[in-house]
Amino acid sequence: MDVLTTLDISKKLRDQGIRLTPQRLAIAEVVINSADHPTARDIYARVREFFPYLTLATIYSTLSILETAGLVAQLPFQKESRYDSNNTLHLNLVCTKCESIVDCDSGSSYLSRIKKKIQDSGLFQIKYQRFDIYGLCETCSKQF
Ligand SMILES: [Zn+2]
Ligand SMILES: [Zn+2]
Repeated sequence: MDVLTTLDISKKLRDQGIRLTPQRLAIAEVVINSADHPTARDIYARVREFFPYLTLATIYSTLSILETAGLVAQLPFQKESRYDSNNTLHLNLVCTKCESIVDCDSGSSYLSRIKKKIQDSGLFQIKYQRFDIYGLCETCSKQF
Protein backbone atom coordinates (compact mmCIF):
# COMPACT_ATOMS: atom_id res chain seq x y z
CA MET A 1 0.00 0.00 0.00
CA ASP A 2 1.31 3.43 -0.92
CA VAL A 3 1.54 5.83 1.99
CA LEU A 4 -0.04 9.17 1.12
CA THR A 5 1.55 12.38 2.31
CA THR A 6 -0.29 15.07 4.27
CA LEU A 7 -0.31 17.13 1.08
CA ASP A 8 -1.93 14.31 -0.96
CA ILE A 9 -4.56 13.82 1.70
CA SER A 10 -5.39 17.50 2.12
CA LYS A 11 -5.84 17.67 -1.66
CA LYS A 12 -8.17 14.64 -1.58
CA LEU A 13 -10.26 16.27 1.14
CA ARG A 14 -10.37 19.64 -0.61
CA ASP A 15 -11.37 17.96 -3.89
CA GLN A 16 -14.35 16.49 -2.04
CA GLY A 17 -15.27 19.89 -0.63
CA ILE A 18 -14.38 18.90 2.92
CA ARG A 19 -13.38 21.80 5.14
CA LEU A 20 -9.91 21.22 6.51
CA THR A 21 -9.10 21.39 10.19
CA PRO A 22 -5.87 20.03 11.70
CA GLN A 23 -7.86 17.35 13.57
CA ARG A 24 -9.76 16.25 10.47
CA LEU A 25 -6.59 16.06 8.47
CA ALA A 26 -4.87 13.99 11.18
CA ILE A 27 -7.83 11.58 11.40
CA ALA A 28 -7.98 11.25 7.61
CA GLU A 29 -4.24 10.69 7.45
CA VAL A 30 -4.39 7.91 10.05
CA VAL A 31 -7.35 6.10 8.52
CA ILE A 32 -6.22 6.45 4.90
CA ASN A 33 -2.72 5.22 5.70
CA SER A 34 -3.84 2.30 7.90
CA ALA A 35 -4.03 -1.00 6.04
CA ASP A 36 -5.27 -2.94 9.08
CA HIS A 37 -8.93 -1.84 8.86
CA PRO A 38 -8.91 -0.02 12.21
CA THR A 39 -11.91 0.57 14.47
CA ALA A 40 -12.87 4.12 15.48
CA ARG A 41 -11.20 3.42 18.83
CA ASP A 42 -7.96 2.37 17.14
CA ILE A 43 -7.99 5.60 15.12
CA TYR A 44 -8.76 7.55 18.29
CA ALA A 45 -5.74 6.02 20.05
CA ARG A 46 -3.46 6.75 17.08
CA VAL A 47 -4.59 10.37 16.60
CA ARG A 48 -4.65 11.21 20.29
CA GLU A 49 -0.90 10.95 20.33
CA PHE A 50 -0.90 14.24 18.39
CA PHE A 51 -4.20 15.72 19.58
CA PRO A 52 -4.65 14.75 23.25
CA TYR A 53 -7.88 16.72 23.63
CA LEU A 54 -9.64 15.05 20.74
CA THR A 55 -12.91 13.25 21.51
CA LEU A 56 -14.24 9.97 20.17
CA ALA A 57 -17.29 11.89 18.91
CA THR A 58 -15.00 13.93 16.60
CA ILE A 59 -13.52 10.69 15.29
CA TYR A 60 -16.98 9.33 14.49
CA SER A 61 -18.18 12.54 12.83
CA THR A 62 -15.01 12.81 10.73
CA LEU A 63 -15.25 9.16 9.70
CA SER A 64 -18.81 9.75 8.62
CA ILE A 65 -17.70 12.74 6.46
CA LEU A 66 -14.91 10.64 4.91
CA GLU A 67 -17.38 7.82 4.28
CA THR A 68 -19.88 10.13 2.56
CA ALA A 69 -17.04 11.47 0.40
CA GLY A 70 -16.19 7.90 -0.60
CA LEU A 71 -12.69 8.06 0.87
CA VAL A 72 -13.24 5.25 3.37
CA ALA A 73 -15.75 2.44 3.67
CA GLN A 74 -17.33 1.44 6.93
CA LEU A 75 -17.44 -2.31 7.41
CA PRO A 76 -20.05 -3.00 10.07
CA PHE A 77 -19.36 -6.02 12.26
CA GLN A 78 -21.44 -7.28 15.14
CA LYS A 79 -18.88 -6.11 17.68
CA GLU A 80 -17.56 -2.88 16.18
CA SER A 81 -17.29 -1.30 12.73
CA ARG A 82 -13.97 -1.37 10.94
CA TYR A 83 -12.81 1.24 8.43
CA ASP A 84 -11.34 0.33 5.05
CA SER A 85 -9.49 2.90 2.96
CA ASN A 86 -8.77 0.54 0.08
CA ASN A 87 -11.02 1.87 -2.67
CA THR A 88 -10.31 -0.93 -5.13
CA LEU A 89 -12.53 -3.99 -5.45
CA HIS A 90 -10.94 -6.49 -3.11
CA LEU A 91 -11.51 -9.38 -0.77
CA ASN A 92 -11.07 -8.89 2.97
CA LEU A 93 -9.58 -11.89 4.73
CA VAL A 94 -11.10 -11.77 8.20
CA CYS A 95 -9.56 -13.85 10.99
CA THR A 96 -12.29 -15.11 13.31
CA LYS A 97 -9.80 -15.62 16.12
CA CYS A 98 -7.62 -12.48 16.37
CA GLU A 99 -10.02 -10.32 14.27
CA SER A 100 -7.26 -9.16 11.95
CA ILE A 101 -8.41 -8.10 8.48
CA VAL A 102 -5.99 -8.28 5.59
CA ASP A 103 -6.71 -7.36 1.97
CA CYS A 104 -6.27 -10.19 -0.48
CA ASP A 105 -4.10 -8.90 -3.31
CA SER A 106 -5.57 -11.13 -5.98
CA GLY A 107 -9.06 -11.42 -7.39
CA SER A 108 -9.88 -7.78 -8.16
CA SER A 109 -10.21 -8.36 -11.92
CA TYR A 110 -12.44 -11.37 -11.21
CA LEU A 111 -14.60 -9.30 -8.85
CA SER A 112 -14.96 -6.49 -11.35
CA ARG A 113 -16.02 -9.02 -14.02
CA ILE A 114 -18.74 -10.41 -11.71
CA LYS A 115 -19.88 -6.87 -10.96
CA LYS A 116 -20.02 -5.97 -14.64
CA LYS A 117 -22.01 -9.14 -15.43
CA ILE A 118 -24.60 -8.26 -12.79
CA GLN A 119 -24.82 -4.66 -13.98
CA ASP A 120 -25.07 -5.66 -17.64
CA SER A 121 -27.90 -8.09 -16.88
CA GLY A 122 -30.09 -5.12 -15.99
CA LEU A 123 -31.74 -7.22 -13.28
CA PHE A 124 -30.02 -5.65 -10.34
CA GLN A 125 -28.72 -2.19 -9.60
CA ILE A 126 -25.54 -2.34 -7.54
CA LYS A 127 -25.12 0.36 -4.90
CA TYR A 128 -22.09 -0.92 -3.07
CA GLN A 129 -20.39 -4.17 -2.27
CA ARG A 130 -18.35 -5.85 0.39
CA PHE A 131 -16.43 -9.09 0.02
CA ASP A 132 -15.31 -10.85 3.18
CA ILE A 133 -13.78 -14.28 3.59
CA TYR A 134 -13.68 -15.66 7.13
CA GLY A 135 -11.12 -18.04 8.54
CA LEU A 136 -7.85 -18.20 10.42
CA CYS A 137 -4.86 -16.01 9.62
CA GLU A 138 -1.41 -17.51 9.25
CA THR A 139 -0.44 -16.84 12.90
CA CYS A 140 -3.70 -18.16 14.36
CA SER A 141 -3.73 -21.27 12.22
CA LYS A 142 -0.37 -22.27 13.72
CA GLN A 143 -1.72 -22.07 17.27
CA PHE A 144 -3.69 -24.80 18.99
ZN1 LIG B 1 -5.66 -14.43 13.45
ZN1 LIG C 1 -10.07 -4.15 2.89
